[in-house]
Amino acid sequence: PAVSVGSILRAAVRRWGDRPAFVDSDVPLTFTELGARAHAVANWLADAGIGRGDVVAVHIPNCRQYPAVYYGVLLAGATFSPTNPLLPAADLAAQLTDAGARVLVTWDQVLPLARPALAATAVELVVVTGPAHVADLAARLELGEGDVDLADLLAADPTDRHLDADVDVATDLAHLAYTGGTTGVSKGVELPHRNVVTNVLQSACWTSGSLPDLDDAGDVTLRQVLGPDECPVRLGEGCLVNLTPWFHAMGAIGYLNGMVMSGTTTVVHLRFDPVRYVEDAVRYRVTSIGGAPPVFVALLQVPGIDDADLSSVRGVSSGAAPLPVPLIQRLTALLPDAVIGEGYGLTEVTMQATGNPSFRSGTRKPGTVGVPVFDTEISIRPLGGGDALPPGERGEVCIRGPQVMRGYAHRPEATAEAIDPDGWFHTGDVGVLDQDGYLSIVDRTKDMLLHKGYNVFPRELEEVLFGVPGVAGAAVVGRPDEEAGELPVAYVVRRDDDAGAALTRESVMAAVNDRVTPYKRLRDVVFVEAIPVSAAGKVLKRELAARERAAVT
Ligand code: ATP
Repeated sequence: PAVSVGSILRAAVRRWGDRPAFVDSDVPLTFTELGARAHAVANWLADAGIGRGDVVAVHIPNCRQYPAVYYGVLLAGATFSPTNPLLPAADLAAQLTDAGARVLVTWDQVLPLARPALAATAVELVVVTGPAHVADLAARLELGEGDVDLADLLAADPTDRHLDADVDVATDLAHLAYTGGTTGVSKGVELPHRNVVTNVLQSACWTSGSLPDLDDAGDVTLRQVLGPDECPVRLGEGCLVNLTPWFHAMGAIGYLNGMVMSGTTTVVHLRFDPVRYVEDAVRYRVTSIGGAPPVFVALLQVPGIDDADLSSVRGVSSGAAPLPVPLIQRLTALLPDAVIGEGYGLTEVTMQATGNPSFRSGTRKPGTVGVPVFDTEISIRPLGGGDALPPGERGEVCIRGPQVMRGYAHRPEATAEAIDPDGWFHTGDVGVLDQDGYLSIVDRTKDMLLHKGYNVFPRELEEVLFGVPGVAGAAVVGRPDEEAGELPVAYVVRRDDDAGAALTRESVMAAVNDRVTPYKRLRDVVFVEAIPVSAAGKVLKRELAARERAAVT
């Protein structure tokens, strides 16, 4: 649809009005209040001369103020560019410079670290909020000279001025998002309004069994088409505790916009604390649980989880990284009434490209990431280039659809390499389609190991490791070896139980190596307290690989 992201908010305010949109530290914020605050932010930005073509960097963690800032930036016609509030100063400076941000909305606790980074950037305005504002917007913050208190912006009454700047939905950027940086330098991804609105719809239709619709005012909304038996997630009835960072694609598209569009109440947690998460999931009778797989690993480790009353949970949604089948089995045992869904995507395709189970047939194939969301095509191409491969053959996953980015900011060569002249985006993931069009992600090409000339995909070994009793988490990387090139080595986190305590290097190797072809066998096991993961919940293999390289040299 030719509507801007502001349309999502307008329709939600009209449709869900007095329902709580967000609850933070037990304080609710209704959809109507969210709308008013977003307009207050938009008006302030417009008065400050910020609008079309300007970038506003949002450098705050998930909190009650975030959604108002997000929609405010977009209603002003400016571009939202999220940053991880825990970024080291040098990385922040690099990202702000690359983005050309004129405004930084930041968090008082990280501002002392961020401030020195600002000098070399184009940032002119610094807007500050902090934990004190969560409980009380009247709370005063300690501000630097020239800093603006976000509470002052939000206090304005926007009743007579509902700004929604004119934008060209096909070309004006709604998001300038940065890739997770899991495999290397994070790159700026240009996403016009049309990409964002489309992908929010593609994702929300998939999770809530709905079709896109326009309301009487011409704003974009959802129409539920599947009954409760086919899709247990219901519009306007859901509740979820959010732990996916809104600065990441899955957070901004699936959880911030997706929940607003579907009238779901989101309980906001500043940071992920598994014990508190389970407490609130029980207390608020949440209907869905969503996040990246490491979150589920942590939840399953919470003492007493088996006795927690999670009977209200109807859907579990995983994304951002592989969900091993043994983990699906543990989640199914814990939540027998819930549909376990899995989505696959990248920042470069706004967020989501496929979903499992299939929205159309309802068929779920565990271990796959499902079928394309609407208006999306997937093809598998040979790694070195060439025509589409038939089902059953492994190759690079390529995606075509309206959610594919316009390009990487300031990187025309990288863009030309990633998007071919026919519009196919080349993901750098190795995958395979089955006869029914279900996609399985084999691994990232960058994580693939080369052992004596054979390709070894760590993910295959990780799947087996997750099935070994006593293993809570695992990641496989390559150890450099003069003769063989690389040797597969497993990093393993023990479960906090007898089976975990009983694990030895030899027992883990035996359990895995009996089940894989000889060239893929593990050559070592390293027990660790935790596997390093990014803020978005992806295993940081490059950190483990660097450790292996350092040990060898
Ligand atoms: P960078 O590209 O900077 O290294 P990144 O890859 O973490 O960072 P994202 O866009 O956040 O950037 O992540 C996309 C990647 O996440 C995909 O290419 C894929 O490897 C992985 N991924 C996402 N969803 C799934 C899934 N359901 N199963 C397996 N892998 C997934």
